[in-house]
Amino acid sequence: MLHVNNVEAVYSKIILALKGMSLHVPEGKIVALLGSNGAGKSTTLKSISGLLSGEGGQITAGTIEFQGKKLNNITPDVIVKNGIFLCMEGRHVFRDLTVEENLMAGAYSRKDRTNIKADMEKIFVYFPKLKALRSRKAGYLSGGEQQMLAIGRGIMAKPKLLLLDEPSLGIAPLLVKEIFQIIKRINEEEGTSMLVVEQNANVALSIADYGYIMENGRVVMQGKADYLLSNEEVREHYLGIG
Ligand code: ATP
Repeated sequence: MLHVNNVEAVYSKIILALKGMSLHVPEGKIVALLGSNGAGKSTTLKSISGLLSGEGGQITAGTIEFQGKKLNNITPDVIVKNGIFLCMEGRHVFRDLTVEENLMAGAYSRKDRTNIKADMEKIFVYFPKLKALRSRKAGYLSGGEQQMLAIGRGIMAKPKLLLLDEPSLGIAPLLVKEIFQIIKRINEEEGTSMLVVEQNANVALSIADYGYIMENGRVVMQGKADYLLSNEEVREHYLGIG
């Protein structure tokens, strides 16, 4: 479904952040993108979602293809219309808008406007905590609740592929598990394909089908999630979770 082939990306024309990055997200699957700080995970997501140029970056080699269509250097709004939605960390929700208004904002690009209300109620089934907070301004939510809202807003866009940037960041461990279980449930019930960038390899691989590990702008290890999780050498050498 999504093919990233040998992509090179630079910032400010000199900083080479991706050095031949490749990955594949098959339809309906969850793929985890792992690696330490600065490995290039966020740059990969920005390259796919068209946000790289907004940060002074550009793709200088390779291709990004989604459902057979080349996406290199296409603007973010067109990429959203093609069915790819990037869920940024929870603190990027609209703080002065209510939970409901944030969810409605997620649906702005949709062509079918008929089921929006029903879909919002479905979000409240996935995230019951948000239902009780539906009229509250997002700025008053906890970090975990904001993260849930960010994911809910992404689902409201009805994407074919959801890109998730560090869903566990700054969230209590128990809540992290809960959020990842909900992500898995959404993948199963909506059929949404997902590419999840995470520093928490254990939790991401526990719901993923396949995983890629990045170092220094490229993939250094990949495999089925259960293999990566259970292989001692991979855990110690690549994931640092021995
Ligand atoms: P993190 O988990 O810390 O976000 P990451 O794996 O997502 O790490 P990136 O943020 O993609 O890594 O960074 C890859 C490289 O690109 C790093 O060397 C980083 O310093 C550099 N970089 C990232 N964003 C910019 C930017 N806006 N301008 C210049 N260099 C950048």
